[in-house]
Amino acid sequence: MKLFYVLCVLAVLLAPASALDREAFTFTKYDLDVRIESGQQRLGVRGQITLRNDSNAPQKTVSLQISSTLDWKSIKLGGNAVQFVSQPYTSDVDHTGVLSEAIITLPQEIPAKGKIELDIGYEGVIPLDATRLTRIGVPEELARHNDWDQIGTSSTAVRGIGYVAWYPVAMPSANLSEGNNLFETLGRWKTREASSTMQIHFDVVGDSANAPPELIVDSEPCKSVSLEAGRGQSLISDCSFEPLGATVPAFVIANYSLLNPSTLDIHYFPEHKAAAENYELASQLALPFVKEWFGTPRRKLKIVELADAKASPFESGDMLLTPLNIDSRIAGLTVVHQLTHSAFQSPRLWIYEGLAHFAQAAYLEQQSGRPAALDFMAQHRTALVDAEKSLAPERSSSASANESLISTSREELYRSKAMYVWWMLRDMIGEETLKKALALYRPDQDKEPSYVQRLIEAQSKRELEWFFDDWVYRDRGLPDFRVESAYPRHLLGGGYVVTITIENLGDAGAQVPVTLVMEGGQVSRLVEVHSKSKSVMRIEAVGTPQEIILNDGSVPESDMTNNKFKINPSAN
Ligand SMILES: [Zn+2]
Repeated sequence: MKLFYVLCVLAVLLAPASALDREAFTFTKYDLDVRIESGQQRLGVRGQITLRNDSNAPQKTVSLQISSTLDWKSIKLGGNAVQFVSQPYTSDVDHTGVLSEAIITLPQEIPAKGKIELDIGYEGVIPLDATRLTRIGVPEELARHNDWDQIGTSSTAVRGIGYVAWYPVAMPSANLSEGNNLFETLGRWKTREASSTMQIHFDVVGDSANAPPELIVDSEPCKSVSLEAGRGQSLISDCSFEPLGATVPAFVIANYSLLNPSTLDIHYFPEHKAAAENYELASQLALPFVKEWFGTPRRKLKIVELADAKASPFESGDMLLTPLNIDSRIAGLTVVHQLTHSAFQSPRLWIYEGLAHFAQAAYLEQQSGRPAALDFMAQHRTALVDAEKSLAPERSSSASANESLISTSREELYRSKAMYVWWMLRDMIGEETLKKALALYRPDQDKEPSYVQRLIEAQSKRELEWFFDDWVYRDRGLPDFRVESAYPRHLLGGGYVVTITIENLGDAGAQVPVTLVMEGGQVSRLVEVHSKSKSVMRIEAVGTPQEIILNDGSVPESDMTNNKFKINPSAN
């Protein structure tokens, strides 16, 4: 009897927890009044949010999560306060590693597809905090350059979910130390929220001693309503994200100066004028290259300086947050990326971001040669190889299409892998052909994943289904090439012909460069090797053949250690 009682109590205690589905609701609409007091690092928010039950079951509990340095003040439904419990909830979607979670018990169940509108209020501070990184062993200094978000007295820069939960969200706890856990959780949230809208009325209270600061948001241009003088300068601005798409709402406040070249807005701290001018010059130099590849830049993007000179850059919407660098090479790479975005629109991330990263590599190649471009791409390679390795277990299951380039929300894939895909396509079909295909691209006609494949095939007269299938439509991992054999044979008129068999042990095929090193020089050819297949090629050599080197780095491979092959001279 006693045991039965204990079990009953346990069941009652566990029931609400198990009934809480943190992914049941989509937050379809945010309408927020955001008051920022930079001097106190304070953020105060009042507003309405609309939630839709996208689960198959009726829901009686709702979770609302904000950063742990913010506190829930009120939650109302239909004008009446609702019952809620506020608890700390460990999760790495926020820089502090913890969320303030309000668990609301609704007066009645919300049926599947039903909506509720809640009036909410919360406030607190947003200080610099890198706890989620330092607690897993990242050195403090490095962690702060990554998690640089804060409302600060002299400058403010705050990114949304994935960095700071400054607007309410709901998702299961995500853990940075558990492989892909954080990326997957954030990816599911962003996918759910892509067609949601957010309207923000900002009220920034400055201090009366200084000139009013500037507020920059990564949305469509905001409407600055008024600038009120009086007890402290107040800056009022209405901004909207309609819809959110892939944008992570972020805001920046500081006393910036503005350089306004025809294609980019550069917001910089007045003391760094020389660096800003460096970016202006770089954009003038890079413009002809970008025009030739992607057409004339159509919309103006913003480069906004971050106060921390070692901060890792962040890109969202039409805004790039980055420290400014006096190194012209870095300035050049940055502006090429941004100008490509302003010239080439696409609703598909792998095309939009992939091409901007590809443009950086191609620009470097034009300026300093192919090895410099390959070195630049190699900086992306390790992250990509690691990502593909960690995705290998899912690949065998039916989930393999989830991380394809057309549906992934992982940066290593839609940035790094996509960059390689464009580079390989150019090597396969030629630069002029790829430029022609890109010139015909229309974002509003890109309704099918195969649209871009058909454009490229029409220009190149080449069948590329196998390549798109292995790299774009599915996540098949990376190729792994090896030389199975290389037999040199004397030619009657002098010189040699070498018969080379290349094997691809991986599940993705590619056209890979093969270099034959011989006495007095070397010669390179391209060979197409499909997944789990072999290709045989013959290369003529004037001098004695010595070695085969596979892949100059233009194809990302899971294992580069098996790419050299010594040719046995006695086999002559
Ligand atoms: Zn970009």
